[in-house]
Amino acid sequence: MYCKFGEVLVAEELFREMDWVDVVSMNAMISGYSSNGYVEDAVGVFKELIGSGGKPNPSTFVGLIPVFSPFGHESLSRCIHGFILKSGFDRNSSVSTAITTVYIRLNDMEAARMAFDVMPEKTMASWNAMISGYAQNGLTEMAISLFQEMQSLKVQPNPVTTASILSACAQLGALTLGKWVHQIINREGVEPNVYVSTALIDMYAKCGSIGEARRIFDAMREKNDVSWNAMIMGYGLHGQGQDAVRLFQDMLSSNQICPNGVTFLSVLNACSHGGLVEEGRRIFHSMDGDYRVRPGPEHYACMVDMLGRAGKLKEALEFIERAPIDAGPGVWGALLGACKIHKNTSLAQLASKKLFELEPENPGYYVLLSNIHSANRNYSKAATVRDEVKSQRMTKTPGCTLIEINNTMYTFTSGDRSHPQSEAIYAKLEEITGKMVEAGYRVETDAALYDVEEEEKESMVRVHSEKLAIAFGLISTEPGSEIRIIKNLRVCLDCHNATKFISKVTERVIVVRDANRFHHFRDGVCSCGDYW
Ligand code: ZN
Ligand code: ZN
Repeated sequence: MYCKFGEVLVAEELFREMDWVDVVSMNAMISGYSSNGYVEDAVGVFKELIGSGGKPNPSTFVGLIPVFSPFGHESLSRCIHGFILKSGFDRNSSVSTAITTVYIRLNDMEAARMAFDVMPEKTMASWNAMISGYAQNGLTEMAISLFQEMQSLKVQPNPVTTASILSACAQLGALTLGKWVHQIINREGVEPNVYVSTALIDMYAKCGSIGEARRIFDAMREKNDVSWNAMIMGYGLHGQGQDAVRLFQDMLSSNQICPNGVTFLSVLNACSHGGLVEEGRRIFHSMDGDYRVRPGPEHYACMVDMLGRAGKLKEALEFIERAPIDAGPGVWGALLGACKIHKNTSLAQLASKKLFELEPENPGYYVLLSNIHSANRNYSKAATVRDEVKSQRMTKTPGCTLIEINNTMYTFTSGDRSHPQSEAIYAKLEEITGKMVEAGYRVETDAALYDVEEEEKESMVRVHSEKLAIAFGLISTEPGSEIRIIKNLRVCLDCHNATKFISKVTERVIVVRDANRFHHFRDGVCSCGDYW
């Protein structure tokens, strides 16, 4: 009882006063120490148990494995695992669930999976730990394949399983899989609690089906702040600023749930992407005044982004200077991004200087500044900035695009020729580029965000990963059907422009999710209004 309330020292005193201890009292002390972070003391009692000739049982090991404070105890965890293997306790499902969990927390997914695979009887807790472990470590495909295995073994998922698998689908933008999980939820009668429904909203919004997300939201009997935030954030992702603001007002007038920092961030982000400067300004000022939510650096960055996108660069700078907090990299980064859109070199230099001081290791800012110089035809300055990146040996995140065809995810990188249908993909790209040029398309080389040498630029832009993925989508799907792709970085100006032309000449709807938001391309126009 004392251990469970965190009073380990009182428990220890009582334990030491006992005339006679057995395995049950020792187990209580071991797990009490371990769960309160006193891992070494837990090991001490375990040694006493072994030294006195006592026999450990499964509870001893479940208590001893430092599931609650794994960091810094990696080698100890492996030692305990070794002991468990030797003594044969790995056949016990509580023990092996604890081993799996500690490896997941230590980010060793391979060891976790091995422990999981040898479990003779897998508990619900171990399935959930493994699936959510994959999802949280970004191994979304593994999470999904394990869930499929669970389905084929007829193990019924519970709300925890479905919420983690939906988050994996959302990360991956895998709409077909997400819908399949939704069907399973309905079919197996998984308790439709607020967490599952919120995970469904998040999945549909991030996979591009904002209407379906709203239907689920409206059907929820009980909503919490996370559900409202997920829906508002979804509208922001789709550039539907008005809808986000309207829903935010509904939230306020419902009088049931108070907006928190995440709510404000979601609605401000939606205002920024929807160009709603007045609303955004008003909401920002109401934060502290009406709702006692103190704006954090992320809220300030969002405001700078909003003012900057709308071309109010001077006001954005004044806003930073007046801010009562120290402007961090997010704030200056937002200003630098706006300088690129509006080709303001002098302000860009000021923002970059701050950023180089704050985050000297981040190559993204150097690339951005270099591009701003070259867009203004100041090539020597652009080259100086690029040399800086090279001399510091910084590496940039390579761009890649995902596309889901018949339940399989395909990944393309820039200039990728690894796909088996590579030849057909390039031929298709060539064919549509011809039609696009006839319709008035010109390559925009200044827009190549991903720092390549000048002479390579034009040819590289032509084969950016999203163009390859779209070409593959065109040859692999029925004419007239929608194409959905996901880009890990912000889509570049040329790819954005090209996708508009592709949607026109092929009469397809193309939905692109990039690092910031969704773009719905239809008949030569993008839903973002060229504002992203
Ligand atoms: Zn591109
Ligand atoms: Zn767009």
